Amino acid sequence: MSTSCDVLIIGGGIVGLAAALRLRAARPALRILLLEKEGDVARHQTGHNSGVLHSGIYYRPGSLKASNCVRGYRQMLRFCEEHGIRHEVCGKIIVATDEQELPRLEVLRQRGEANGLDGVRELSREELREREPHVNGLRGLLVPQTGIVDFGEVSRVMAAELRRQGVEIRFHEPVTALIADGSVTTVVTPHGEYSASCVVGCAGLHSDRVAMLSGTDPGVRIIPFRGEYYTLKEHRRHLVNHLIYPVPDPAFPFLGVHFTRMIGGGVEAGPNAVFAFAREGYTYNDIDLRDLFDAIAWPGFRRVAARYWRTGIGEYRRSLSKRAFVRALQKLVPEITEEDLTAGGSGVRAQACDADGSLLDDFSIMERGNAIHVCNAPSPAATSSLSIGDTIAEKALVRLPNGTK
Ligand SMILES: Cc1cc2nc3c(=O)[nH]c(=O)nc-3n(C[C@H](O)[C@H](O)[C@H](O)COP(=O)(O)OP(=O)(O)OC[C@H]3O[C@@H](n4cnc5c(N)ncnc54)[C@H](O)[C@@H]3O)c2cc1C
Repeated sequence: MSTSCDVLIIGGGIVGLAAALRLRAARPALRILLLEKEGDVARHQTGHNSGVLHSGIYYRPGSLKASNCVRGYRQMLRFCEEHGIRHEVCGKIIVATDEQELPRLEVLRQRGEANGLDGVRELSREELREREPHVNGLRGLLVPQTGIVDFGEVSRVMAAELRRQGVEIRFHEPVTALIADGSVTTVVTPHGEYSASCVVGCAGLHSDRVAMLSGTDPGVRIIPFRGEYYTLKEHRRHLVNHLIYPVPDPAFPFLGVHFTRMIGGGVEAGPNAVFAFAREGYTYNDIDLRDLFDAIAWPGFRRVAARYWRTGIGEYRRSLSKRAFVRALQKLVPEITEEDLTAGGSGVRAQACDADGSLLDDFSIMERGNAIHVCNAPSPAATSSLSIGDTIAEKALVRLPNGTK
């Protein structure tokens, strides 16, 4: 067992794995160790998402989400091609269903253009009907780049590739303490201690807590928002050709319930966004008192709750009542009925919230001494992971002592 390394990465989700790959590519002789608390990679957000290769259309030009998504999308496509991972660039349509959404649809078109996306174009009602005969909309925006993939599969290939290159991945290793002493940090788990010149936290739903182990408060807390899915029954899959999305509410960092074709077959509808009673709270039965207490004690969460309580109640209604969920979907595809859908899986988003009650809109990476912590990497971080990995690699390399190979 190696107990000392150059860079130690905490978290075997797609961001930690991608960071390890990019570090390895930049410096092949580097000793890298990745610690994951679960028994396999991709057990949380990375293995419970919509599987969409986002194009970058939604994000404010100049933001980290925009630049990393556009770059990461290309890198991810290349990675999938090089490693024979199933994926499909099937395109998506964002649909405006009422007049008030038309200006927001135009803002998205402009963002796509500013973010360098080719071929994004508006669809008239008739063109929309031609492509999606069952969709109800005034106008659409065609985003040809959008694709689908299984990020769990991508992660397993990344892990195999890392092992092949000599990177050690250790499972069942929850990191509980970080002790910095000069240029070396001791990383503590229930099974041992590891020393590293640089520590990288990619702990997703626990990223704020892992960052706090470095001795400074990151100024944000993770608020877990569960997204629940339904699956469209096989005989109704013809209702959806592309991925179909509503125009998102700009006040909220989620995209609204949509229809997604999955790379493994089938069509999913969702996800909604309800506050989860545990960071790893995949169902209503998962309640963690520490997680609940931490959220409620955070002033930012209370401000979010005060500001968005109406939206929150709507989300819980759609979560608890299939009829209400279906009504939201019927805005896009009026023919959908409750009988067409069976309950699907769920995922929990790690959304950072600051003390003022802002849900961080952009990716956030915090640096403290020899530690780097990814503190906010919600969607589209799976798509963007290899680009985020490049940024982490750059930041890690300058922290290594002179002479490290
Ligand atoms: C419902 C949903 C839909 C989404 N849809 C999309 C999409 O279509 N496209 C897209 O690009 N993105 C999507 N996302 C976002 C995407 O899944 C995440 O941005 C991405 O997976 C984040 O990866 P990560 O490695 O940061 O986090 P995670 O995948 O959560 O990995 C973090 C890892 O850290 C480990 N860990 C935590 N604490 C410790 C500790 N103390 N010690 C050791 N290990 C620890 C955890 O066990 C976990 O394996 C979606 C997310 C959700 C929840």
